[in-house]
Amino acid sequence: WAKDEGRNRLAFFDRERSSRQQTRYALSLAMRDALDNNEFFVDYQPIVGLADETMFGVEALVRWQHPTMGRLAPDRFIDLADENGLIGAIDAFVLEQSCRDCKLWQNEFGGRAPFVSVNLASRQVSDPTLAGRVAATISSVGLEPRSVQLELTEQTFMQTDRQSVESLRALSAFGVAIAIDDFGTGYSNLAYLGQLPVDVLKLAGPFVTRMDGQGADRSTDELIVKSIIDLAHNMGISVTAECVETEDQARRLAALGCDSAQGWHFARPTRADRIVELLQNANP
Ligand code: C2E
Ligand code: MG
Ligand code: MG
Ligand code: MG
Repeated sequence: WAKDEGRNRLAFFDRERSSRQQTRYALSLAMRDALDNNEFFVDYQPIVGLADETMFGVEALVRWQHPTMGRLAPDRFIDLADENGLIGAIDAFVLEQSCRDCKLWQNEFGGRAPFVSVNLASRQVSDPTLAGRVAATISSVGLEPRSVQLELTEQTFMQTDRQSVESLRALSAFGVAIAIDDFGTGYSNLAYLGQLPVDVLKLAGPFVTRMDGQGADRSTDELIVKSIIDLAHNMGISVTAECVETEDQARRLAALGCDSAQGWHFARPTRADRIVELLQNANP
């Protein structure tokens, strides 16, 4: 009897798993049409200076408005796009859309308009055409390169081959800022910090979340965060904290010298219209 139940449960898990695989397969197939049908769109999350809490940048985060499955978060499709080869097209769409929106903000708000920070998948960086395509997109929109920041995960920096180093140097020379995303989530070899053109380090969420506790754990985490911030500053790198959800975290990060932050405490990712409203409501 127990054995039967075990078998049923396994059958259940198999069904679950295969339906999940079917969904992934269906999503992967639908992705090409989704690009042509404009089902992807970009939300922006404010990045604020910790000294005065003004929004000076936004991170572009892609979403998929699927006709039957509704709004899908990037964790549902980015790795699929990486597998089926469409990630390049998605990242190109997000970069172009972000540049256009940034240009509109600049036309309306001048120097108060935020820069756009755009995520790039790992494999993009080893593509020899990347730097040229990024430069062409930014120039065609009429944006200055310094209005754009590119986010690459720590993992990407750890796996650089000769081509990626060349891409990064070309992009940096062109004038876009380079940020390390999710810093501190993986095994880190700090040597690359000195060898690659890095402007911004984005401190991963778990560090920030753990700063909320009390006692010895908290002070150890604060010590680590403080050391990362000092190291970055000594190398001329600015630090943005991710996933700041509470006032307390924001205050502690500011006290440790962290430059900027993003997170639900300040603002959730939101449509471009809302960014315009935020700029309209902010004091000039
Ligand atoms: P990420 O680049 O580290 O982006 C930050 C993620 O944290 C976003 O999730 C954002 O919505 C979420 N977040 C922001 N503030 C908070 C907070 O206070 N608390 C918590 N718990 N979460 C917060 P999202 O939008 O689901 O994106 C997930 C990941 O997908 C991104 O992580 C990025 O790696 C990837 N991604 C998003 N857009 C793109 C894109 O256009 N291209 C590529 N290649 N990857 C993208
Ligand atoms: Mg990011
Ligand atoms: Mg530079
Ligand atoms: Mg991140």
